[in-house]
Amino acid sequence: MAVPMLTFIGGAGSVTGSKALVEVGGKRVLVDCGLFQGRKKLRQQNWDPFPVAPESIDAVLLTHAHIDHCGYLPRLVKLGFKGPVYCTDGTQMLAEIVLPDSGYLQEEEANYANRVGYSKHDPALPLYTRQEAVDSLESLEAVPFDHGVAAVEGVRATWRKAGHILGAASIDIELEESGSRIVFSGDLGRSTHPLLLPADPIGKADFVICESTYGDEEHSADDPDDVLADVITEAAGRGGVVIIPAFAVDRTEVVLWHIDRLVATGRIPRLPVFVDSPMACRALDVYRAEAYAGSEEVRPELRGNKLFSSIEVRETRTTDESKALNSRRGPMIIVSASGMVTGGRVIHHLANRIGDDRNAVLLVGFQAPGTRGDALRHGAHQIKMLGRYFAVRARVASVDLSAHADGTDLVDWLATASPNPRLVIANHGEPEACEALVAATEDRLGFDAVVARPGERIRVD
Ligand SMILES: [Zn+2]
Repeated sequence: MAVPMLTFIGGAGSVTGSKALVEVGGKRVLVDCGLFQGRKKLRQQNWDPFPVAPESIDAVLLTHAHIDHCGYLPRLVKLGFKGPVYCTDGTQMLAEIVLPDSGYLQEEEANYANRVGYSKHDPALPLYTRQEAVDSLESLEAVPFDHGVAAVEGVRATWRKAGHILGAASIDIELEESGSRIVFSGDLGRSTHPLLLPADPIGKADFVICESTYGDEEHSADDPDDVLADVITEAAGRGGVVIIPAFAVDRTEVVLWHIDRLVATGRIPRLPVFVDSPMACRALDVYRAEAYAGSEEVRPELRGNKLFSSIEVRETRTTDESKALNSRRGPMIIVSASGMVTGGRVIHHLANRIGDDRNAVLLVGFQAPGTRGDALRHGAHQIKMLGRYFAVRARVASVDLSAHADGTDLVDWLATASPNPRLVIANHGEPEACEALVAATEDRLGFDAVVARPGERIRVD
């Protein structure tokens, strides 16, 4: 019988497009099915022929619902994959929100390319449509945490909490024939996530495939509440509006949690808080329902509770409701996507408010180089939106509410493997970040570790 092999298809040498293929006993299992995002050179890889025939894959296992881990799924189905897609309940609920939205964006981009005529394809085509994304959701099958599932014959898979976003898991794969265990970290959260429990320990593993997004960085030790309280109180005193660009899933909930606590402890006044993003509002429904239902992922003290009960959260779902905010006076807080100000409704709010020095802009996460968020963080005086320049007169501040483990967190998680794994493989990171994680793993833990290379095949028997 053929030797079991692991192949890195995506997510090696970059932080995007996560996909790894496990081949054993004539069966093929794909772990994560992520879309390449970001730079054009990366995004073009979404059009490359898939390295194996999609119909030859027997099952897909998803770690979580971020697009760089699940956004290629509708394409894989479109190309002929017909098997089941296993994931946790939370991931299924969030995928039902983000995948159709991704299909819609693909269609918009193709339409735009056709209007301005920049595409090499003639006419430009979407990778998949909204409807194709909706259709692909039918392959999803929810599995509980901590219960082994026979993903295909000879392969047992178990999902364990990763503490990153709701539903996020590491996947422990046991190859029954050889007895070897491969643990895929997925994306790991910070142990300080205010709503979710931290990642479960690894336990026994022969091979650990560990994400390295922040392998070479450490999060700030400053208390984000100090900055949040200062910015919000000051802007409210001037009758201003605080605009918080935030990723729709998870970051919005974390921001609301901090605001709620600051109000409850009397550190900031009670202001109306608008969540202005249809996707964020739907994700909010899922987080609220899961906390109220007592989900095992949610921190015990929040189970059975209504989240954010100290603040007045107002959700604006329709375009008209969003536009109505333009003429509303402060003080108030608007939380709106996208987190790096690359698109979405937050652009309109900034265009409307950033020229007024009573207002404030609060950046709450990583800002990729080249984005408007990054320019703002570095003190840009002018910012281009909707084809025009706007003078930045509002106060701009940043806090770190990242949903990602940093270098120390990653090594702390690896330290929970016992006995020592045979090999740690660093993936899902820029090359420097992966190298840093490998060095720290060798130095601190004495584990053998290497960096995953794109297309590389490794024996895992
Ligand atoms: Zn993620």
